[in-house]
Order: sequence, then C-alpha cells, then structure tokens
Amino acid sequence: MSARFDLSGRVALVTGGNGGIGLGMARGLAEAGAAIAVVGRDEAKNAAAVAALEAAGARAVGIRADVADAASCEAMVETTLRCLGGLHILVCNAGINIRKPPETYSAEEWRRILAINLDGTWNCCLAAYPALCEAGGGKIITNGSMLSLFGAPFAAPYAASKGGVVQLTKSLATAWARDNIQVNCVLPGWIDTELTRRARRDVEGLDRKVVERTPAGRWGLPEDLAGIAVFLASAASDFVTGTAIPVDGGYSAQL
Ligand code: NDP
Repeated sequence: MSARFDLSGRVALVTGGNGGIGLGMARGLAEAGAAIAVVGRDEAKNAAAVAALEAAGARAVGIRADVADAASCEAMVETTLRCLGGLHILVCNAGINIRKPPETYSAEEWRRILAINLDGTWNCCLAAYPALCEAGGGKIITNGSMLSLFGAPFAAPYAASKGGVVQLTKSLATAWARDNIQVNCVLPGWIDTELTRRARRDVEGLDRKVVERTPAGRWGLPEDLAGIAVFLASAASDFVTGTAIPVDGGYSAQL
C-alpha cells in the first residue's frame, strides 16, 4: 500500500455500512487498513457486515443508530470513540428513496426522505465534528446521486435531498478547511443494490435504459465505490475539498 493511500491506524464510521454501497466503501477502507464502525438500524445486517469485514482481516464494530435522530448520531460517535479509540473518517452514506409522481407524496413521506438523506447527513457531520477536530483533522465523504445533477419525474423529494447534500458538502468544506477537515461528495451512477433492485421493479424499462445510457454499458457494483472512498479518506486527497465526483461509468458525461 502506497503511504499516500494507507489508512492504517485510522477509524472510519460508515452510515449505511451494513449493505450496498456503504459496505462496498467500508470494504475498500478496511483493505487500506482502517478500522470500521458499521452503522445501520438493523442489528442483524450490522452483525453480518461486521463478520464479513472481520473475515477479511479488518477490525470492525456494529452500531445501531438512526441518522435522522441527532441524539442517536451523537451516541454513535461516542460508541465509535469508546470501541475503536478515535474517529478520522466519516462516510455519510445512509439513504432511502420512495418513487412515485410528485403530487402523490404525503407530507410524512417527503419529511422521511429529507430527514434521512439530508438532515441525516447534517446530523452525522455535526456529531463527528468535535472528534475530527480532536484528531487534528479528518475526512468526510457524503453520498449524493445522479439526482444531485438531474431531475426525475419519480423522485422529487429524493432529488431535492441529494441536491441539498452537495450544497451542504461545499459549505462544510469551506467552513471546516481551517480545521484540516476535507469534505467531498460522491455521486454514484446506477449501482446494483437493494435500493435499485426495488427501483427496477417500480420503474418500467429502467434496467434496459440504464445499460443503454451508461457509456460503460453496465450497472455499477458496490465495489466500484471502494477506490474513491480510499482516495477521499486518505492523504492522497488532502488538497481536494468541496467537490462532487461522479462515479457513474460516464452516465453524467453523456447527453
Ligand atoms: P441500500 O438500501 O442497499 O442501503 C441503504 C443503507 O442505509 C442500509 O445500510 C440501511 O441500513 C441504511 N439506512 C437507511 N436509513 C437509515 C437510517 N435512518 N439510519 C441509519 N442507517 C440507515 O442502498 P444503497 O447502497 O443503494 O444506497 C446507499 C446510498 O447511496 C444512499 O444514500 C443512496 O441514496 C445512494 N445512492 C445509491 C445509488 C444506487 O444506484 N444504488 C445511486 C446514487 C446514490 P438499515 O436498513 O440497517 O438502517
């Protein structure tokens, strides 16, 4: 491992790290040497992810928390500090979607999507900030979407939340650069996970459209996000902050 990408002795907290993209990123961070706090609401999924990371040689703990709840985020950071001895890398990956026409969402559905995707990112960043300062700096990776860039008729609240995540990322990056905290956003293209398996059931023709529209000619896999996670969590990206980087097989580059 090149020293620039080496995460030995670092502790990463990954929300939504118990499956899908979060686990793909956690695996990359663990391979680079980081200890991992896997955060999700489902303890069985957390335990399975911890077992998979430990089987690959990593140090890992599972923490049950709800990112929509600020107190739960503060507790999750405290547990990470107690169990793993520090916090250097925060990955705000937890997210949900509900797909339907804009006029059919209830107020509760709108609030739930915003509460997890946007408030959740805010809650985690605020909860982690003192610990990152204490460590002399750190790395925050947020998770946007192609819907941070584009609109879609079936995902208005999700797109609003993910556009907000990018603007929040830029603002925190400008505020916390003085604390040696770099804050960047990844914009995954269409990645094969539980979330998009549901989308393929809900949205007629989506599977074919994604393959046709993506220059790489395929759906992404959770492990396609591992490399960018290591880059944005490591010294290799120390002068990179406030960016939103597509990891999409060229989807957003093509008209
Ligand atoms: P999954 O549904 O596979 O994973 C979502 C993760 O978030 C789960 O680990 C889930 O764990 C966790 N989670 C959900 N709500 C909460 C909550 N309130 N508190 C804590 N954890 C929570 O989805 P993906 O892996 O596909 O998505 C991960 C992120 O990537 C999301 O932010 C999504 O918007 C984004 N993304 C995904 C794309 C894709 O194509 N798949 C494309 C662009 C962005 P648990 O159920 O245990 O709480």
